[in-house]
Parts: sequence; structure tokens; C-alpha cells
Amino acid sequence: MPYKVTVDRDRCRGFACCTRIEPKVFQLDEEGKSTVVAPQGASDRMLLLAAEECPTEAINIVDEESGKRVWPRPQWV
Ligand code: SF4
Repeated sequence: MPYKVTVDRDRCRGFACCTRIEPKVFQLDEEGKSTVVAPQGASDRMLLLAAEECPTEAINIVDEESGKRVWPRPQWV
């Protein structure tokens, strides 16, 4: 179940929860916004955990096989 992860820069507030959980995948850029530097750098489970911990729901995850959104959960948006 390969996940594709992206960060919505407009929603990111730089709280860095994601970078603490998965520093290989997420890094803060010069504007203090999270960017995805290694999309395959973590397991799907850990990507989901990082997304769940983001207080602004700035991390989006899509299941590449099905094309369905995994996070934020569809019913929450
Ligand atoms: S946890 Fe969310 S708000 Fe914080 S840096 Fe990561 S994406 Fe941005």
C-alpha cells in the first residue's frame, strides 16, 4: 500500500512534529515550512503517524494504488 505524501504549505505552521517523527522525510525549509525531502524515506505506518500528529492537518497522504485519500480522513474534510 504505497503512500504518496505531500505538505500543504498554506496550512503548515512549522510546529515540526513531522520533522521530529520522521526527519528523513520531512525537513523545515528556510521559511520554516515543512517540505518532503525523501518521500520513500519511511514506512506507510510512520508517514501516517506523522500526518496524524500535525496540528494543522497540513500533511496529505494518498494511496497511490487506489488513488484514495488516506489523510486527512475523507469524512473530516
Ligand atoms: S507538523 Fe504540520 S505544521 Fe508542523 S511542520 Fe509538520 S506539516 Fe508543518
